[in-house]
Amino acid sequence: MSITRFAPSPTGYLHLGHAFAAKVARESGEQFLLRFEDIDHTRVRSEYYTAIEEDLRWLGLTWQGTPWRQLDRLPIYNDALQKLKALGVVYPCYCTRSEIEAELAELGNAPQGPEGPLYPGTCRDLLKKLDREPAWRLHWQKASERVGDLTFNDSRHGLQQVNPGLLGDVILARKDIGTSYHLAVVVDDAAQQITTVTRGEDLLPSTHIHRVLQALLDFPEPQYLHHRLILDDQGNRLAKRHDALAIRQLRELGLTPEQVFQRL
Ligand code: GLU
Repeated sequence: MSITRFAPSPTGYLHLGHAFAAKVARESGEQFLLRFEDIDHTRVRSEYYTAIEEDLRWLGLTWQGTPWRQLDRLPIYNDALQKLKALGVVYPCYCTRSEIEAELAELGNAPQGPEGPLYPGTCRDLLKKLDREPAWRLHWQKASERVGDLTFNDSRHGLQQVNPGLLGDVILARKDIGTSYHLAVVVDDAAQQITTVTRGEDLLPSTHIHRVLQALLDFPEPQYLHHRLILDDQGNRLAKRHDALAIRQLRELGLTPEQVFQRL
């Protein structure tokens, strides 16, 4: 049986872009699950969980079972991190954001990824532990040597060769919460037996990292569908600040769910 999911962050109301993403997910499988990606805990507000569920129901995009919350699952992400530590493919990083920026400025021509400059590797070969909580980063070269060549299959973009260094040594465990988007999403997709991962094409680079993590953690490989993004009239990505396109605003304006979907 094919299983898909919609994984919003409860840091704002659902907007048209979310409605599209949820609809794509719902239509891509037989079972449809809802998962709250709430590890950005300082930006999460409790009313958004309920509002998101309400809006999805109003749109007719109902899910099966009780929605998962990532904040309930921190020990499980930690188990996965311990496995990666045992494999020797992660390392502690003590850098602050401003230290990284200073280092990058000094380097001048730091390697660039699709989302900006890559981590310059300051802590990669650090011999001593410091007396404060570190973040944990993927050592992408060691990871890549372990897993060898990988691919993933995307229904829109075709077969993709994994480039494990695309995002550099990404953070897998933030020091404040002990996990990151990349680690949590991979662990949860495996735990919920998601067969088809649908998400916006802005996340295509992340999928390269996710395939590496799946291979390291012995998780199955899902099918992917990176869908187009819904843009505003100026061609910009929709963001939480686009209140005018929030589903609840459109509902209050008297639109029906059918009319909302027509706007997509
Ligand atoms: N939480 C992510 C978002 O809101 C979803 C990422 C994913 O589906 O992997 O876009």
